[in-house]
Amino acid sequence: MLLADRFAQLGEENAFAVLARANALKAQGRDMINLGIGQPDFRTPDIIVESAIKALRDGAHGYTDSLGIPPLREKVVEYLSKRGVSAQPDRVMIVPGGKVTMFFACMLLGQPGQKILYPDPGFPIYRSAAAVTGAEVVGYRLREDDDFAPDMEQLETLVDAQTSLLIVNSPGNPTGGIMRQHHIEQIAELMRRHPQLIVMSDEIYGEMLYDGEKHFSLASINDIADRVILLDGWSKTFAMTGWRMGFGLWPSALIDAARKLSVNCHSCVAASYQHAAITALDEAWDQVEHMVATFDRRRKFAADLLNDLPGVTCRVPKGAFYAFPNITQTGRESRELAKDLLENHSLALLSGTDFGAQGEGFLRVSVAASDEDIQKGVDRIRTCLAQH
Ligand code: PLP
Repeated sequence: MLLADRFAQLGEENAFAVLARANALKAQGRDMINLGIGQPDFRTPDIIVESAIKALRDGAHGYTDSLGIPPLREKVVEYLSKRGVSAQPDRVMIVPGGKVTMFFACMLLGQPGQKILYPDPGFPIYRSAAAVTGAEVVGYRLREDDDFAPDMEQLETLVDAQTSLLIVNSPGNPTGGIMRQHHIEQIAELMRRHPQLIVMSDEIYGEMLYDGEKHFSLASINDIADRVILLDGWSKTFAMTGWRMGFGLWPSALIDAARKLSVNCHSCVAASYQHAAITALDEAWDQVEHMVATFDRRRKFAADLLNDLPGVTCRVPKGAFYAFPNITQTGRESRELAKDLLENHSLALLSGTDFGAQGEGFLRVSVAASDEDIQKGVDRIRTCLAQH
């Protein structure tokens, strides 16, 4: 077999490996607690499920436009306008999951001789999708003392004339951090100074901010908006991870190339789910509010418990549903501690290094779990630390 060399560059999402191992241990009879999973522990609201069923019954069985059905793209535009983003439906592409926008952005802008910048620690597929294109991939640091916003000074030094794509993510996975308006304005300023630069702004947790923080979208800044790829979708906001429903708002210069990638790859997204996605954006906001209020309570609960552990400090997450405790003072290495917790204490969570080398010294704890599981999980970390 003559496998293409570039596939050696493809990375992984360790979350799936940990989930598989946790399920295997559970099948052996272990009482597993799972704080590793990156999805809401809620069912998709019934109104959305019913809408998909109705669409199937009504005959939404065929291919659709590769960009997505027009009423859904119009609904996305209406939704984005509430975030201060003015867009047109012909720049919106519906995709099977937020990841697809990420992969397509890297495919379109990555090649040898060009550079792609991504947050480290960050969602692991950024690095993977960028590296497989042959582009130079460089992780930029986040500042724990600034709620895990990018280290803007370092970022300034990394962007050069070869940088084709900069990836930003707020609210952030795995940190629960956020970029505030002044950070976003600095990114816009960077774009003005580097006219070739396209930014992919991953806003998939954009509905999940706490403590009165407001989400500020890079695409709401008019003079650079048409150089922003805005990634969002239904997975997290509406507890629809398994439906595979996402959307991208693309620069007008790139939307046709992105559409061609869709035609080549998946043709379109399931028609019935596109109808359900309209219902979600129209009618499911009270359920979203309930989920976000639940995550809000739990992130404070989890941070309090984690801060009480010896050698652990944890910033209270400002967004998403992850806590990212700093374990440096425990003297343990992240990966080794996460493995010890999984194998010997029946607790699944992720090592900070699953999100990049700069994640050393941290664990990622998902608060998309019940209070009881969060309490038990933190108790197990305490026991594990005491035994070492
Ligand atoms: N972006 C971030 C930051 C994520 O954490 C995730 C999923 O965990 C995604 C994108 C991908 O979302 P989807 O499941 O819609 O592909």
